[in-house]
Amino acid sequence: AFTQITGYTLDEVKDSNPNTFHVGRQSQTVFDEMMESLNASGHWQGERWSRRKNGELYAQWLTFNTAYNRDGSVYRRVALFSDITGRKEAEELIWKQANFDTLTGLPNRSMFQNRLAQEIKKSHRTNQPFALIYLDLDRFKEVNDSLGHDMGDSLLIEAAQRLNSCVRQTDSVARLGGDEFTVIMTELDDFKSVERVTQDILEKLSSPYQLGIETVYVTASIGVTLYPNDAGNIDELLRNSDQAMYAAKNQGRNRYRYFTQSMQDAVQTRITIAKDLRSAIIEQQFLVHYQPIVELATGSIHKAEALIRWQHPERGLISPAEFIPVAEETGLIVDIGDWVFHTAISQVAEWRKFHHPDFQISINKSPVQFNNQKAGHRKWLDELKHLNLPGQSVCIEITEGLLLDATDSVTDKLLVFRDAGIQVSLDDFGTGYSSLSYLKKFDIDFIKIDQSFVRNLAPGSDDLVLCEAIIVMAHKLGMKVIAEGVETAEQCKLLEAAGCDYGQGYLFSKPISAEALDAFLKPNSTTNLAAS
Ligand code: C2E
Ligand code: MG
Ligand code: MG
Repeated sequence: AFTQITGYTLDEVKDSNPNTFHVGRQSQTVFDEMMESLNASGHWQGERWSRRKNGELYAQWLTFNTAYNRDGSVYRRVALFSDITGRKEAEELIWKQANFDTLTGLPNRSMFQNRLAQEIKKSHRTNQPFALIYLDLDRFKEVNDSLGHDMGDSLLIEAAQRLNSCVRQTDSVARLGGDEFTVIMTELDDFKSVERVTQDILEKLSSPYQLGIETVYVTASIGVTLYPNDAGNIDELLRNSDQAMYAAKNQGRNRYRYFTQSMQDAVQTRITIAKDLRSAIIEQQFLVHYQPIVELATGSIHKAEALIRWQHPERGLISPAEFIPVAEETGLIVDIGDWVFHTAISQVAEWRKFHHPDFQISINKSPVQFNNQKAGHRKWLDELKHLNLPGQSVCIEITEGLLLDATDSVTDKLLVFRDAGIQVSLDDFGTGYSSLSYLKKFDIDFIKIDQSFVRNLAPGSDDLVLCEAIIVMAHKLGMKVIAEGVETAEQCKLLEAAGCDYGQGYLFSKPISAEALDAFLKPNSTTNLAAS
């Protein structure tokens, strides 16, 4: 075994001092410890590096024992060893795999968390703050989807290299998974350097990537949090940087945001809202208000939009702008949307009977409802049938975002609605992507000009030109136009002159309860809705 492991023949080593062929690479301290133990107990056991005859280093598992003379002096030391190089290599590989990302070679999540823990300890010792930077590539999924995963991988490797080039040796970059990276910037003397580095990262990451024959552009959204200023432990640090990153995404991507207390408060509110939303349906805290949509040429009303309201037992009336996004995130929007649909069509059945046979109710439908498997759109059709209502009694309001990422299943659902005679409005038109090709492709019936265009309407204004252009275009494509947020008689007059078909806004009425609208719809009603 000895000759096999070391490569020496018996003749070469016989009678010679082991030190001549045991030249390893251990430190003096390990050697001293070994000698100390041998002198004290005659025994030592441990790992040691040694060299084979051909010069190759190998790891030994070595046990020393001692045979003593009668007088207690050392007679012989006996060394027994085995070659554990293979096991050491396997251990090292496992350690590497457990701590590093195989694609980019960067530390992975587990290594990152170790380092973060170390940084916290170090910061305590040195009293120097550090920054945690959390970074997510924008629209990376599109690269993967359109160019394939190999290209996506190449981009990640390149992005990792660029990231490394932005930081100092002492800072550590890690990949948490997917397109998420972190940087720990240590030993900060002033926070300006954080600003400089994040700015540099944004610039470097957003320059074009040459992947084979494709030139690809991606950007990054970055969240920054500081220790100990913002947080006292790892979990808080991670949460903060994540929130700050989301704020950067929400504000339009390709930017960085620092964590702030108000961000934390906003998240807290959302968590409470999410919790309370769960019980809101059962406890009947929702109600639907209706806002009339007025035909401008005749002043007649045979349309209204259903707008949900939440009467919270402690917080009072909560605006849908506040809770709909939370309902979307949690998926609760599906049940809430079903409830709104159910309530609104029961109402429209009444109004068709007692007010106008063609009365139509507009119902907002979030993209999440379209994309959710559980949301059965056929259930809605069955409900209509059950009330003997034709499809025309309902108009679904969607936003441009839905059409932009429309999957086949979204397109199918829109077609099912179409076949049933349900109409479709494009809500908040002008605030999203406003891609004209979608208008044709998806068979839209109404365009709702967003209130931001209506708000500043004045003779000769740019917004008037835009409204006129939207109206002409819509009419050419066979669609009707509804102006949202009409608040003044002047806006109304300008819109009517521009050929706008319908108006909706405080000028005519705020969203009001079904009973209030009902009163107004009665033929000789004297209710002045504009004042309500
Ligand atoms: P939206 O669909 O664009 O609805 C129009 C919003 O403008 C409503 O806000 C309405 O109250 C407001 N509004 C109407 N006329 C005027 C006006 O003259 N001036 C001003 N400043 N505002 C006016 P609301 O009710 O707070 O709803 C906000 C958004 O919440 C809606 O925007 C819609 O996107 C969403 N939403 C409301 N109900 C539902 C629902 O049942 N389901 C879903 N998915 N979303 C809903
Ligand atoms: Mg709407
Ligand atoms: Mg709108």
